[in-house]
Amino acid sequence: MNRSIRIAALATFSAALSLPVFAQTVKVTPLGGIDGEFCPQDRALIFEDPNGTRVLYDPGRTVAGATDPRLGKIDIILVSHMHGDHAGNAHNKAPNSGTCEAPDMSVSAMPNSNAANIAVAKKSKIVTGSEMPPFFAAKLKANGGDPANSILARFGGSVTVNGIRIATVTAMHSNGLDPDYIGGDLGKAMKEAGIAGDVGLATGYVVRFSNGLVAYLSGDTGITADQELVVRNHYNAKLAVMNIGDGFTTGPAEAAYVINDLVKPASVIASHANEVGTVSGKVRPGSKTEAFIKAVKVPVHVPLSGKTMEFDGAGKCTAGC
Ligand SMILES: [Zn+2]
Repeated sequence: MNRSIRIAALATFSAALSLPVFAQTVKVTPLGGIDGEFCPQDRALIFEDPNGTRVLYDPGRTVAGATDPRLGKIDIILVSHMHGDHAGNAHNKAPNSGTCEAPDMSVSAMPNSNAANIAVAKKSKIVTGSEMPPFFAAKLKANGGDPANSILARFGGSVTVNGIRIATVTAMHSNGLDPDYIGGDLGKAMKEAGIAGDVGLATGYVVRFSNGLVAYLSGDTGITADQELVVRNHYNAKLAVMNIGDGFTTGPAEAAYVINDLVKPASVIASHANEVGTVSGKVRPGSKTEAFIKAVKVPVHVPLSGKTMEFDGAGKCTAGC
């Protein structure tokens, strides 16, 4: 074979092998507070792999408990850290209760967490890093679930569940466990002293789906060197879910630096804005969400609750954006 024939044959071969897989999409559906909007408490996303596996990321307070009809089957739950707006110390009565500006968070999920309650009801695996797995194993056991469904993926390693490879990465944040999760005299004494339980460091995730899509889920974080060294250079993430809320995490300017200069994905989903990000589904002028979109060089997708977006293996949105 001469060189051009070899190249043509190689192209045909690789097209036959890799393109059909690459062209399959991961469906991302935000489970926020109000249908069609991006609201202050919104964190929860469902990722549906082309193989049918459904992954719930940071259920927080906008998933209306385990009976929320939007959940369907949940195979895997990811919890970046134990703060109440991520693990879910409380939640809404039902989707669309309250308003975007004043979300309903009237149902307590203590001492279990929304995440643990959903995992028990759905028989989901909970994959966490750091020292969170023993906490979730104990909550599963205490509520009639299987403690073996709490699985560890600590920094540097990964686990593969249902064909999806899950790794945790550093997040510069805190991860104190609210003493209400502990309860009893110990929990009461800790609360009075103003100290939290220790379940190790907060985390983010890098998830590789079966179509080749690699997604970085920042969790709550500041700017970290690992966003370049690990998330881009090692994992080569093509889609990022990036926190932009400021005060607690990177704000729009810092998050834009992370995306433009460190992670450099093909596209990004804004998250954790802690504001009314949209009105009637349109980005609110003067919002942090708008500032982030303007500062970022790649397409920014706003997670409108209930609106499914589809991403191919290269991190490009192919539908719903
Ligand atoms: Zn937090």
